[in-house]
Amino acid sequence: MTGWKWQRGRTLTYLTIPGWSKLGVMAAFAVRTGGASENPYSSLNLALHVGDDPEAVLHNRALFLGELGYESKDCVAAEQVHGTRVLWVTAKDRGRGMQSLEDALPKCDGMVTGEKVGLLCFYADCVPIYFFEPRTGLIGLAHAGWLGTAHKIAQEMLTIIKSAGGRPENCLAAIGPCIGPCCYEVGENVLNAFSENFHNLAMFSSKGEGKYYLDLVKANQMLLLAEGLWPENISIAGLCTACQPENFFSYRRDGVTGRMAAFIGKSLRG
Ligand SMILES: [Zn+2]
Repeated sequence: MTGWKWQRGRTLTYLTIPGWSKLGVMAAFAVRTGGASENPYSSLNLALHVGDDPEAVLHNRALFLGELGYESKDCVAAEQVHGTRVLWVTAKDRGRGMQSLEDALPKCDGMVTGEKVGLLCFYADCVPIYFFEPRTGLIGLAHAGWLGTAHKIAQEMLTIIKSAGGRPENCLAAIGPCIGPCCYEVGENVLNAFSENFHNLAMFSSKGEGKYYLDLVKANQMLLLAEGLWPENISIAGLCTACQPENFFSYRRDGVTGRMAAFIGKSLRG
């Protein structure tokens, strides 16, 4: 849990990065408890696209964002498609994707902004990657499953951050809870996709008979280091979503289920 801490809020418990809060950026990851959704989404499901009652989701979003000092109207959510498209977000986008899926940022798995907009992505095993460049004040959030990781969405995020004047050597990154190699068995097809894009396949360990355990955290950490981030600037939660049914939804473990949210936003005060 380097850099991460459990935070007990007014009604919810969640994970935060205190070192970033001190610099004026709230980064958080929700757990699955304390919300209004019913099975199989019980109870703090924060995503509209999984078949849950939208009213319960909007209630849950208000609850979670309230803990962080934000409201839905100040945040943006995207239509996540396991791609590598990263969009630049501005204050004009505030509210998009927050009340309905229709106006979510289309086909987008990464967002970067320099403004006071809360960025929200949804997860049940995929990797939440947070970015904060303190010198320029840029923040970003990515959703990286195995496809997004294999196609290097982390690199794509840094391309946008660099194009806006940010520097990888100044950049802080954090990786939230996601499925760990303990629970993430994959086949040859996944190994092959990575071998097209990575020289080093250290993120795989063989189980035999064409099966492998995939470490998505290690793969994304390798990408961040290759981009020039300092190892000590990468905070890793190190929590497996599939191992902790009491805290986290897991698609691999449960199939139809809810989604946790990752959030990043600059403090609205000051
Ligand atoms: Zn596990």
